[in-house]
Amino acid sequence: MVATRNIEAGTFVLREQPLLVACMDARFDASVSLAGMKAPRRETLSNLYNSARGIPGMTELHGIVATNAVGIALPPDGEDHLAVCEFASRVNHSCIPNARYYWDYDNFAVGLVATKHIRAGTEITITYIDPFLPHLDREAHLLSNYGFTCDCLACQKDSPTYRLSETVRMTVNNLLPDADGEGDEDLVRWGGTTKAFVQRILNMLEVEGLQGERAEVIVRFAEFEQRLGNKERAQRMARWALRELAKIEVEDASPDWAAMREIIQG
Ligand SMILES: [Zn+2]
Repeated sequence: MVATRNIEAGTFVLREQPLLVACMDARFDASVSLAGMKAPRRETLSNLYNSARGIPGMTELHGIVATNAVGIALPPDGEDHLAVCEFASRVNHSCIPNARYYWDYDNFAVGLVATKHIRAGTEITITYIDPFLPHLDREAHLLSNYGFTCDCLACQKDSPTYRLSETVRMTVNNLLPDADGEGDEDLVRWGGTTKAFVQRILNMLEVEGLQGERAEVIVRFAEFEQRLGNKERAQRMARWALRELAKIEVEDASPDWAAMREIIQG
């Protein structure tokens, strides 16, 4: 997918209803089948790429969903589901993406939002994987799950910025609080409780072209402060996180919104 005009950061570029929504767990095979679908939809789905072809026990539809799905949260509990779309699912991967998916439950639609300025003629990309992994891990992950090797600037070993990119990504990864609270003590020691500290991480994201991860980083720090019992700091961080989320998602697109409001309300 290529931009046909200049696109400002924060622009919601595309919005479409999924062709199919499935459960992520063992109920998958019972919940969807190509046989029950009307011809046009079945054809559109069948034309999507299947990187899992030949894997024993994987049906064609299962492979297509695994290759193309966008994770979405459905009420009441934000349970994870998979949505497959005609256009959004075809967006290519880059470890330096310029867009990301968002989920619009009210319109039951998957969309794309630009996370940085995109010039006309530039390919629109998202990241399929955790961008903070080192290159070798990203490479292994992309190859085994999607069957291709990425050749973006962050993945080219002979590019002048390769080593800097590796360092920046690993540093951010080390400084981010884990969702389960592991390593919290290290962060406290390094000063992870200040806004300036978080801002430094955001600056690193900027250098690395990972602006789309800003909200996620701030959310993680808000939860971290909450775990430590620093109520006021957690609330400040949560308000900041909501402002950042609003730039890349519609309200309540992810469970992060409710989690941040809960922190703010104490
Ligand atoms: Zn790459």
